[in-house]
Amino acid sequence: MTTSPGTGWPGDPATARTPVAHAPADVVRLARGTLAQVRARVTVCRACPRLVDWREEVAREKRRAFAEQQYWGRPVAGFGDLEPRVLVLGLAPAAHGANRTGRMFTGDRSGDWLYASLHRVGLASQPTSVSADDGLTLRGVYITAPVHCAPPANKPTPTERDTCRPWLLRELELLWPGLAAVVVLGGFGWQALWPTLRAAGVDVPTGLPAFAHGAEARVRHVTVLGCYHVSQQNTFTGRLTEPMLDAVFARAASIAGLDGG
Ligand code: SF4
Repeated sequence: MTTSPGTGWPGDPATARTPVAHAPADVVRLARGTLAQVRARVTVCRACPRLVDWREEVAREKRRAFAEQQYWGRPVAGFGDLEPRVLVLGLAPAAHGANRTGRMFTGDRSGDWLYASLHRVGLASQPTSVSADDGLTLRGVYITAPVHCAPPANKPTPTERDTCRPWLLRELELLWPGLAAVVVLGGFGWQALWPTLRAAGVDVPTGLPAFAHGAEARVRHVTVLGCYHVSQQNTFTGRLTEPMLDAVFARAASIAGLDGG
């Protein structure tokens, strides 16, 4: 297992040397790199003006409970095992979660649910995820999103989704050969995955199932599993329960041969 290193905060010399995407064409060009380059370059991306404004405004104004903290306020890179068997695809960073902490699903209720479940099925080293330096490691799992910046109301526009696609496309190109399962959290990710896979050269079959919790689609050597998103809209209302979430990750772990502890 190779665990992803932390990414640099603003002002770090390594971050200052990273080339910056200012437009969609820059994203296309800069996403043609190694996984390490992609993970670094995405964190300084400025290609979506509305999302740049929003993520930075949230980082300036903050939520009162986090008023003393420095917010990340930038795009959030994928996190986890850099040689994964299971890829988890969400939607986008949360304004006061990953946009604050700089790590996917970290520092909010969605992450509480996600990492607790991954821990219960043996894929995370600890059940909580509060900050990028809390020591959490994932076993065989890499978490990413179709959109890497926090969007207003958690709703990226189609143009923003498409502008961000090359980052995910490159992650999929690099990671796909080693994957056994993809867990997609929510319909947005389910819809975003197929065209991105096709663009990555994967022969995606027609007649794939619509998104549903428990939906399964076989794409070449990979099983794609649908799972309700771990947002509070689903977890507070009981639409998604802990056993339901655990069942999906246990299934992914079993498919990937990661259920041996
Ligand atoms: S959403 Fe993606 S493409 Fe747009 S600014 Fe953020 S990282 Fe860049």
